[in-house]
Amino acid sequence: MDRRSNKAFKLDDPVNWLNHDASPALAQEVISKHGGLSEQQCIYSGCKKQALKNMMVCVEHGHSAYKWTKNT
Ligand SMILES: [Zn+2]
Repeated sequence: MDRRSNKAFKLDDPVNWLNHDASPALAQEVISKHGGLSEQQCIYSGCKKQALKNMMVCVEHGHSAYKWTKNT
């Protein structure tokens, strides 16, 4: 398996981690697409979530590009 997997998907509590209306499953999908999580925190003030890899923001704050809804 990808050696990043353990780290990238180490979310102890995905539901808590996403206290938004976002689906944890979709969050995982977005994280996966980004290749994991960054080691930095989301730049949004007060947000303590990990940013997506190569992104400055976390899943919640970066999800606008993905919309969460399946409107392909
Ligand atoms: Zn955030």
